[in-house]
Amino acid sequence: MRKECVTAYVALGANLGDAAASVRQAMDAIGSLADTKVTRRSSLYRTAPVDASGPDYINAVVEVSTALPAPLLLQQLQQLEQGAGRERSYRNAPRTLDLDLLLYGDAQLQGPALTIPHPRMAARAFVLVPLAEIAPQRVSAAQLRRVSAQAIQRL
Ligand code: ADP
Ligand code: MG
Repeated sequence: MRKECVTAYVALGANLGDAAASVRQAMDAIGSLADTKVTRRSSLYRTAPVDASGPDYINAVVEVSTALPAPLLLQQLQQLEQGAGRERSYRNAPRTLDLDLLLYGDAQLQGPALTIPHPRMAARAFVLVPLAEIAPQRVSAAQLRRVSAQAIQRL
């Protein structure tokens, strides 16, 4: 039987080492997850760290078509973060790879380990701008206006 696929969006961010290479590699790795295809990739963007110090971030968003349930998809994304050497040393610490599940179809979930839509996405230009590039129907002009003061450079 064919599995039902859901369209989901994943935000990628990195600001240590060769951050652009980490983000590109992570896009490929997401496409290699079981029952998951990457159907769109945004450009890469450069942004200054929010509420933190350290090097600039490279950010991007991918669209996936996946048959994985949302908690399982998040678990797989966290394994990729760990494989990239991420250490959760302190809040907003610099990271080799951060993967956030932004949207999962039209699902609204609120659990201790997983909230969808991602609770902080509306406040972040580095999420909304690349998301709007590949999924303009999922981001309103008003949302973009609210983050328009945040500097973000398309590479
Ligand atoms: P942020 O991505 O906001 O900078 P972290 O990556 O450090 O922060 O936070 C990850 C935590 O957030 C994880 O413990 C995870 O369980 C939780 N979380 C809740 N909802 C989501 C989501 N939609 N995507 C990714 N992580 C989420
Ligand atoms: Mg995260």
